[in-house]
Amino acid sequence: MRLELDSLTHRYGNEPAVDDVSFGLESGELVALLGPSGCGKTTLVQAIAGHIHPTAGRVLLRGADVTDVPAESRQVSVVFQQSTLFPHMTVSENVAYGLAARDTGSERRDEVVSEYLELVDLRDQRGAYPSELSGGQRRRVELARALAPQPDLLVLDEPLSALDRTLREQLRDEIARIQRETGVTTLFVTHDQEEAMTLADRLVVMNDGTVSGIGEPRTLYESPPTPFIASFLGRSNTFSATVIDQQPLTIAVGETEITLNGSQKDVSTGSTVTCHVRPRDISFRDSANDGANLSLAAEITRVVDIGTHYDVTVRIDTGDELVVECAGNPPAVGESLSLALSERQMTVFGPG
Ligand code: ATP
Repeated sequence: MRLELDSLTHRYGNEPAVDDVSFGLESGELVALLGPSGCGKTTLVQAIAGHIHPTAGRVLLRGADVTDVPAESRQVSVVFQQSTLFPHMTVSENVAYGLAARDTGSERRDEVVSEYLELVDLRDQRGAYPSELSGGQRRRVELARALAPQPDLLVLDEPLSALDRTLREQLRDEIARIQRETGVTTLFVTHDQEEAMTLADRLVVMNDGTVSGIGEPRTLYESPPTPFIASFLGRSNTFSATVIDQQPLTIAVGETEITLNGSQKDVSTGSTVTCHVRPRDISFRDSANDGANLSLAAEITRVVDIGTHYDVTVRIDTGDELVVECAGNPPAVGESLSLALSERQMTVFGPG
């Protein structure tokens, strides 16, 4: 394992900002650390880079415990959200800075600087000062500077948050390419689920100082292990149901009984559960969706034209309102229809 966090906890005063977090990155992986503002991402980055000493737990790099090793002696490069380029140094001098600190001979240093400026497509800007570059170019200089010392681990801490949408998408693709070409083990920290899902081999989703789930983006999206992940990784509808039977799991959604044959949660009879399904996974029942094995009666309460599709809000007989993404002609407000859902696309969360 290239990076391993072992039961890491960090408290500011009595409040744990990071609470018993454990996960690892294999060599060459690109993992996104994803979570809302305040969930503890920056605290974790600081513990990994050696800028803070965790209250408890260990940080391991290449299997060695570095918890007590100072930041400058760890082979970890961090690119922060805000630019940290030296304004009085040229692009080349900025990239060479990390190497100079490691006492590389000057000829070799020039070669390495050229190699990494080539990698980020900035060889023609080597004599420019940061103020003469665009925001995107400055980010690429920082990437080159972080990569040139060939770190054990590259940490990108919200590197695209300060940029506009088009530039963000371009740089996201650039980062994916550069990571593939160099094979550098990368932890990409972000609060943006789309960014995380498009870039990463795996996601570590954090909420309130703890890890809510770890896995491949599509798996977490399609089979969310927690209600938090269900709602954080895209749009989620939830409705309540009562467990009638356990084997196979049978639930009552208002007046409708639904039997779920696939593997589902271990929940006791009589308990209230929460069902999750994404708006794009519900349709209005017609002959085209006979494969969707669950049906629910619903009344249309609202129709909004989004351009690419209609968001149709419906009320089911539990009183819960669900959104259905409808590509064709939408039904009219007040109409009563049957919803078609597929068991595969529904997740049941037990109480608590
Ligand atoms: P953001 O994206 O907003 O920076 P984050 O996910 O990086 O959020 P952290 O900055 O690590 O989260 O903060 C986690 C928790 O720790 C928050 O409740 C925050 O208020 C608290 N915290 C962070 N730094 C300090 C500090 N130096 N002193 C006290 N509390 C802090």
